[in-house]
Amino acid sequence: MKIGVLAMQGAYREHISMLKDLDVNAIEIRNKEDLTGIDGLIIPGGESTTMGKLIRALDLYNDLKEMIEEGLPVWGTCAGMILLAKIIYNDDTKHLATMNIEVVRNAYGRQLGSFNTKSYVKGIGEDIEMVFIRAPYIKSVGEGVDVLSIVDENIVAAMEKNMIVTSFHPELTNDNRVHKYFINMVKSNIDNN
Ligand code: GLN
Repeated sequence: MKIGVLAMQGAYREHISMLKDLDVNAIEIRNKEDLTGIDGLIIPGGESTTMGKLIRALDLYNDLKEMIEEGLPVWGTCAGMILLAKIIYNDDTKHLATMNIEVVRNAYGRQLGSFNTKSYVKGIGEDIEMVFIRAPYIKSVGEGVDVLSIVDENIVAAMEKNMIVTSFHPELTNDNRVHKYFINMVKSNIDNN
């Protein structure tokens, strides 16, 4: 199994080291060629506008969108969630726009931008460690989207078909349960193809 982590900017190294700790072959995605043969993809947190520009500038946009639409398991954390959303409530920009969710960028405001908590994620467990950094949350979900976690009345994790998104950063904690869950998504996709 090979999992690619989009390595334009942001917290990609932390995802790679967590995957490696779980004995997964994890590689940095920097150009089209890197996409060959990956079984899953993580789009990390960072700055969604910058990442959106870079995937276009490096000619990754069409390949990424097509691979995700064809069923490649993908996990977007924080800015990665924004890149996957079909609608960004407070921004006219659209990025990969593959997932039927409406997100609010920097939803917690600038002052209270970063905080930690522990909460339940459906299918994954109780007391999952959650680090929020100028995070988005999901304002509404469309058909086919399963809400996985709600913190303070806001949706912070959801899933639709091959796509899972989290507002928070599990790669910045010692809690690897979301990574394990994603690895299982990738495994079952390999087994079913
Ligand atoms: N605030 C960032 C954005 O809007 C996301 C922050 C993050 O990924 N930690 O793109």
